[in-house]
Order: sequence, then C-alpha cells, then structure tokens
Amino acid sequence: MCALMGNKGIETDDAEPALEELMEKARQAAQNSYSPYSKFRVGAALRLASGAIVTGTNVENASYGLTICAERSALVRAVAEFGPAIKIAAVAVANLNGAASPPCGACRQMLAEFVLPDAPVAFPAADGTCVMPFRDVLPVAFGMKLK
Ligand SMILES: [Zn+2]
Repeated sequence: MCALMGNKGIETDDAEPALEELMEKARQAAQNSYSPYSKFRVGAALRLASGAIVTGTNVENASYGLTICAERSALVRAVAEFGPAIKIAAVAVANLNGAASPPCGACRQMLAEFVLPDAPVAFPAADGTCVMPFRDVLPVAFGMKLK
C-alpha cells in the first residue's frame, strides 16, 4: 500500500522530483511550528491543481484541544488565498522530530473535501517517506454531496 520514496521501480518515480520539492517546502514550513507543549514540529505543503503551493504548520494552544495540525493549517490557508474551488493535486507532510507522522483522521477528512482521489500523499513513515494515493489514505470519507 505504501511506496517508499527513493526506491527504484515504483509507480511514483515520475512524480518524485516534484514530490521531493513539496517535501522540502513542508520541512521549511515546520520551522515555523508553534508547538511549545508537544515540541512536535510539523509542516505540510499542498500543491494545487493550478500549480500553486501552499504551506502550513501546526499551531498548538494551551487548551490542547484547539490545536490545529499542519495539514489543516495549509488547507484553510489555501482556501483563504485561492477560494473554495481549489483542487489539491499533491500533499506532503514533514516533521523535524524524525518521527512517523501520517495525516491524522481529522486532517484526512478535511483534505477529502478538496483533494483529487489520485493525489499522492507523502509523509514520514517508520522506514522512510511513504507515498500513497489519497484514496488509500482515506478510503471511505464522510460526504454530503448527493450524486
Ligand atoms: Zn491532523
């Protein structure tokens, strides 16, 4: 299910330079993390279908529960900057803690509203950077769109 970046012969090879650039943007965004409580510094970068790249970082709160993740931070910034019609073509998540950090359930559901099903999602896993199509990251999203 998870293809590791840097392996030869996997289907993500063609997209890897662009994904690696997106990962670097996510790492840069993590430098701005506000995480005085957990010290877990996370960054996310979204590439929109338009080609624009929007980044976000986690912003914690003393209440803990009001903390927002890097992925949702990037998503709300993307909508604020480019409007409600955005389509997310690729997602990269990075952290400065050397830990595995796939998007959490809340972020997966929020991304589902705007992401293309085939969009690659790259995130730190236990044994390298994992790349998965969004449809595998959240196979059954909640939705209210009537077909
Ligand atoms: Zn999250």
